[in-house]
Amino acid sequence: MVRIARERIADLFALAERESERPDSHLADRYVQLARRVGTRYNARLPAEYRELYCRGCSAYWVEGRTVRTRLRGGRRIRTCLACGRARRVPLGRGRAGASPPEGFTTGAPREQGVLVGPVSEEDDDTTEDDGSEEA
Ligand SMILES: [Zn+2]
Repeated sequence: MVRIARERIADLFALAERESERPDSHLADRYVQLARRVGTRYNARLPAEYRELYCRGCSAYWVEGRTVRTRLRGGRRIRTCLACGRARRVPLGRGRAGASPPEGFTTGAPREQGVLVGPVSEEDDDTTEDDGSEEA
């Protein structure tokens, strides 16, 4: 039963995400309400990634810049619901997903450009066909 509830919750959040792309639609909030209700009824916790997506005060589905404002302050990420004003504070830097530096961030050593290492021959190209049509 809990498994079915989880699937239902996932469906509802997928619907909410899709609906949130339309302006002036409150269906996304409605889907969040339903998802939370399903979780309550079947005693299924909402996955962490979903719990970041809505306001716990008014169940508004959060769309950055439209229904939520995110500010970084004092080592915390503060997300303020623009519908009801409730703030949610999340501490930063605790090994969260996405906390690792982006790709290329740590490559401080300069690349040796123009220096070819090892024997390089133009005839190593495997894509050249051996039909002998290119006679010099
Ligand atoms: Zn709210």
